Amino acid sequence: MKLNRRELIQGAAAALAAAGAGSASPPDPGLPDWIRTCRGLICEAYNPPFYPSFDYQAAKAIAIARQLNADSLRYPAASYFAYFPTKSGYPVHPELKGDPMRETAGLCRRENLKLIAYVPLNHPFMDAASKDARYQEWCKRSADGTPMTTEHYGFAKYFEGCLNSPVRDVIRSLVREVLTQYPVDVMYFDGPYQGMQMAKEYCHCKHCETAYRKRFGKAVPDQSAKLPREDEIQYTSWMANDVVIAFLDSIRQMIRETRDVPVLFNDTSLLSKREWRNRAIPVVDGFMFEAAETPEDKLFNLQLGHSTGKTVWTYVGTHTQYNREHMKSDRTRGWFSYPVESQELLLDGATAIAGNAGIVYWGLSRFFYQPEPPLSYESGRYVKEIFDFSQKHRKLLAELRPLPVAGILVSDQTIDWYAGKHFVSKGYENYYHGAWQLMKDLSYDAEPFLDYLMTPEQLSHYYLVWAPNAVCLSERQCAMLRDYVTNGGTLIATHLTSVADEHGKVRSNFGLSDLFGARFTEAEPIEIPDLYLKLPSGEEIPQDPQVLRFTHTGGGTVLAETIDRGHRANLGPAIVRRTVGKGQVLYIGSGLEAVYAETRMKRLRGYLGSLIEPLMSEHRTYELAWQSGVTPHFTASRDTLLLHLLADTGNKFKKLRAREEFLAVENVQVRVRIPHDRRVRSVSLLRAGDSLNTTPVNGWLDLTVPRVLIHDAVRVDLV
Ligand SMILES: [Zn+2]
Repeated sequence: MKLNRRELIQGAAAALAAAGAGSASPPDPGLPDWIRTCRGLICEAYNPPFYPSFDYQAAKAIAIARQLNADSLRYPAASYFAYFPTKSGYPVHPELKGDPMRETAGLCRRENLKLIAYVPLNHPFMDAASKDARYQEWCKRSADGTPMTTEHYGFAKYFEGCLNSPVRDVIRSLVREVLTQYPVDVMYFDGPYQGMQMAKEYCHCKHCETAYRKRFGKAVPDQSAKLPREDEIQYTSWMANDVVIAFLDSIRQMIRETRDVPVLFNDTSLLSKREWRNRAIPVVDGFMFEAAETPEDKLFNLQLGHSTGKTVWTYVGTHTQYNREHMKSDRTRGWFSYPVESQELLLDGATAIAGNAGIVYWGLSRFFYQPEPPLSYESGRYVKEIFDFSQKHRKLLAELRPLPVAGILVSDQTIDWYAGKHFVSKGYENYYHGAWQLMKDLSYDAEPFLDYLMTPEQLSHYYLVWAPNAVCLSERQCAMLRDYVTNGGTLIATHLTSVADEHGKVRSNFGLSDLFGARFTEAEPIEIPDLYLKLPSGEEIPQDPQVLRFTHTGGGTVLAETIDRGHRANLGPAIVRRTVGKGQVLYIGSGLEAVYAETRMKRLRGYLGSLIEPLMSEHRTYELAWQSGVTPHFTASRDTLLLHLLADTGNKFKKLRAREEFLAVENVQVRVRIPHDRRVRSVSLLRAGDSLNTTPVNGWLDLTVPRVLIHDAVRVDLV
């Protein structure tokens, strides 16, 4: 049964029950609950106790996992070396004795821990100082024949492998051995990689040259010359689809046919430029977002993950990465095998739980060499606290789904292909992060989703779709958005949205010109300091100093113009609002959401809120009196509404990755909407445990949460 958006949102839990699923895109129903709520301990093998020296002891690892209350252990079948006696041809660690993987599997079974196998798919492993002649056959090569090398963790340099070389078969054999000879519960892949530091460099190895000539009748293009866009598209698409993703797909297929276990992969670089792996999501059952720079970015990533319908895992513990700014080589990272303290771990865990992700702690190495057991250390106690909380509420957490009312179109195509003169790729995320943050700060959960996975069905889950500077959109995608609006959806589009096609070829006008009621003066924006938005009231408020000039082509209302105070000039329309079919369109010719991400200016929040509220307030599922640093996140199951409150209110330093402690926030005012046909059985705080005595008035439950230190959640059970 397919419910429309109104039923889904307004009926919240009731509608959820009828739909048999929660979110706009329910996580893969085929996977067991433990995978979606997992409490994994990672045995990382790119550092001690596996590498460079092999110190690992299975019994010690299992004891640590038990003490932390993990439910699963991730064992590295290989990293720079294999850590089991493989016959695949993959180099085996020279100090390996016996079969520690088999021993680990046996102990996991005895201790009731699930076993996750880590298998790298062409992650660089060939030591560049090695005399192994096969490496010359397997490596990626530049146009002049030089092998490509990369650094990774600071221990050594490695050749980058090419997936068109025989290394492909070595890796496939390795995967098959792990799958068929060990009782693994999940196959977890890191990769497939086609290089690391040199990933964007085209491979000219003889295998690639032969394959490329066979396919296209010509040599691999030489990047030292300025390449026509068509050549770039051709090579990139070939390498991404025909080589890398096809390889992962064939591995998944082999697993399905051999012994079908769930397959997850590492997709940390999801939004990096021309990152092949990022398009491989449809091939697997789930994926891992390792980490993000802030808890808010992490929650964004987890929601983006859920939009794909796949299971999502995330690291806790990577906050301990050291920023190493004074180091000559920033590849020489900090400390891998020390229990670095900090409450950020708790916030990391709470964010993972709020974001409905499986949690994997990085990792074993932090306790392996310590003289005392893990709970003697602050970080060990924090890991256990996160795992205990997850276990205690496991049933509830497994049933809960996010319930977004809006969607944020994340333009991966723009990241890959747009090359406008004013385009700053490292700042591009500020547009989609800013849109998400602004919606959060207005108490609306907005789910980021990927352009290349956009379908009319996906769009139909949202009352509002925000396209934050989604420059590169295909004709088909423009048509999808047009239909969405015509059928009653609300679209906010900003700045250069639809200025170019899906491969970055600039159009003569917006692809969505008819929706916007606008024609751009020039495809490049201008940058001028001290610009203001002039509102009909006469008030002038800060405008993005980068604006796209356009003319209003009719229909709708110009809501603001851009004033250039320094030059006493009016630069014309800045914001247009129109009705198209049954829907609404708001076109903003600048990146106000990026400015919001960069400033969190209150007047800007208030102004954008005044445009959004009339369109969205009837669809609200909760409301939080805005408080700096407090992020709400709403989830629901058939009989429970759960409003998470994440309090990222610490002693922040501008330098990222300095250690951080947190302050409690007090008297947080929240409201939760109660589905119209349900009654409230009880209200409590999930973490503090307190019952709250309150009854709904006019369908809304008003309450005050006395204190939130890092995390709590308002739990509303329904009858
Ligand atoms: Zn190659």
